[in-house]
Amino acid sequence: VAAELVTAARSLGAPIVVGVLADDAGDVVDAIELEGVDRAVVVRVPSDRPRAEAWPHAIAALLDQTGAMTLLLPFSWDAAAAAATIAADRDLALVSDAVGLARSATGSLVVERAVYGGKLLARLEVAPGIAALVLLRPGVWPPAAAATSCPVENVALNAAPAARMRTVEVLAPAASADDLTRADVIFAVGRGIGDRENVPLFMEAARRCGASLGASRPLVDLGWLPRPQQVGQSGVTVKPRLYVAFGISGALQHLAGMKGARTIVAVNTDPDAPIFDAAHLASYVDAVEVARHLAADP
Ligand SMILES: Cc1cc2nc3c(=O)[nH]c(=O)nc-3n(C[C@H](O)[C@H](O)[C@H](O)COP(=O)(O)OP(=O)(O)OC[C@H]3O[C@@H](n4cnc5c(N)ncnc54)[C@H](O)[C@@H]3O)c2cc1C
Repeated sequence: VAAELVTAARSLGAPIVVGVLADDAGDVVDAIELEGVDRAVVVRVPSDRPRAEAWPHAIAALLDQTGAMTLLLPFSWDAAAAAATIAADRDLALVSDAVGLARSATGSLVVERAVYGGKLLARLEVAPGIAALVLLRPGVWPPAAAATSCPVENVALNAAPAARMRTVEVLAPAASADDLTRADVIFAVGRGIGDRENVPLFMEAARRCGASLGASRPLVDLGWLPRPQQVGQSGVTVKPRLYVAFGISGALQHLAGMKGARTIVAVNTDPDAPIFDAAHLASYVDAVEVARHLAADP
């Protein structure tokens, strides 16, 4: 995500400072050495401090150190919580879940974000002279390429506030959940697969073809597949080389999460389904039938 933020920052045409919040900057050196980065500022955040508590303080130190007028953060729970705290404390502009960034003719920052469940895009202009925190949706900008190292400054934090929270336990997500954001090939299933009992068939088809299994939201809401597998506006944004949509109608909220795939194949019995407007290849056949072939022994 750090590399995606750098690409987004480059579109604004100002010097780029990467802020690193880490216990040990050596651990995150890849985030610093990216094309287009002018320098990096490292604020030490002990890894045993909960982020919700430590990040607002560290990000405020970054803003003070750099005097930045635009701070880009990934749209994650931790960053959103910290950004809201700082924006309220310092009376800054805050835009979350941004999917586009630009400069207006007068040089002010213009941010695009989806509204009304993804049916419209709102373009928001930050008033001149106001510093803005912008949370960017992961997976929208391509990552910046690696580069040679850049100057690194270390910032000592002024006395950190006394800890009021502590980490009790860190729980890993269910082991079965693939990280779809890194998948090269995704088979995604929707309501058109008909029955929960067909899910293992698609799992097997995906396994045999080296694909990760994704899903539309209704299947996740029904509990047929775990939440990390949901593709779309309220799930993950994916960019695989190949995305095969089985029995998915292609609602805007689903398309928002997968329209960046290099090749989209849609398998849907309804030739008028909107998914075919986004697909490169169309198959108007029964999704379960296709899965049976893919899962069968050759
Ligand atoms: C705020 C908000 C956020 C949302 N976020 C998401 C999100 O992140 N991800 C998401 O997916 N949705 C999201 N949705 C829901 C979205 O609007 C759609 O309702 C959902 O994507 C539809 O899922 P589907 O395509 O599986 O089902 P349906 O729309 O019911 O489509 C099923 C498709 O299967 C086809 N079909 C039926 N039988 C067969 C068969 N035998 N073989 C092949 N095809 C067949 C049908 O022709 C149909 O096109 C969101 C909605 C809202 C309001």
